[in-house]
Amino acid sequence: MVDVLKAVSVLLSGAVDYVLPPICGSCREPVVNSNGICGKCWADLTFISDPCCVCCGYPFDLSVEAGAFCGECLKAPKSFDRCRAALSYDDKSRDMIIGFKHSDRTYLVQLFTKWLSLAGKEIIADADFITPIPLHPKRLLTRRYNQSGLLAQEIAKKHTKNYVPDLLLRTKNTSSQGHLSQRGRWDNVRAAFQINPKYKEMIRGKKIALIDDVYTTGATLEACSRTLKKEDVTRIDAIVLARVLKEGGS
Ligand SMILES: [Zn+2]
Repeated sequence: MVDVLKAVSVLLSGAVDYVLPPICGSCREPVVNSNGICGKCWADLTFISDPCCVCCGYPFDLSVEAGAFCGECLKAPKSFDRCRAALSYDDKSRDMIIGFKHSDRTYLVQLFTKWLSLAGKEIIADADFITPIPLHPKRLLTRRYNQSGLLAQEIAKKHTKNYVPDLLLRTKNTSSQGHLSQRGRWDNVRAAFQINPKYKEMIRGKKIALIDDVYTTGATLEACSRTLKKEDVTRIDAIVLARVLKEGGS
């Protein structure tokens, strides 16, 4: 068990430098620019921008008055204050994110951090602590890195913010959520997280920014936010790389 903890701690510390290779982060063709993605792939991505739901960040087709909530947030108010996403999760962004998550294409962290920084500018400015949605230690050992941890660490480094890799602990090794319905996803994750007891005092009265790669139904973010809400934190915000956008609105 000690060895496992040691390995997890090394993985969490993540003292790695990422060198952006001269290939497109999406199609992997050579690129001459230093943006990490070729012009064609960049044009195929769908970036999310205002106007959007003041809480969950779901984009609206038409302009609305500032501070408007989407139907989903009105129906079931969220435990977090704000979430913003950089990209729509679609065929184009999915390939890049899966490559980042499962295929060691960790150099993409630089490109993704740029996009997360733009989407979550206000959230980052407000945050006292930046922390990732955690993986269960067993899954971390199999995957070798937490993709959300790499993003959170790089955002904190870029903006000189406090990075806390293990503020939340994933105490339940939940099954893969890919095939689950919204209700199934919630049942799967609702009791999966705990606050790391060593940070309970530290986060009192503070603003927390959670970082994740993909927002599908929001169940994981909601479970983490409910866990944090039991502590006396001032704000819970989140920035995600991509979110699933449903046809016809949220
Ligand atoms: Zn919303």
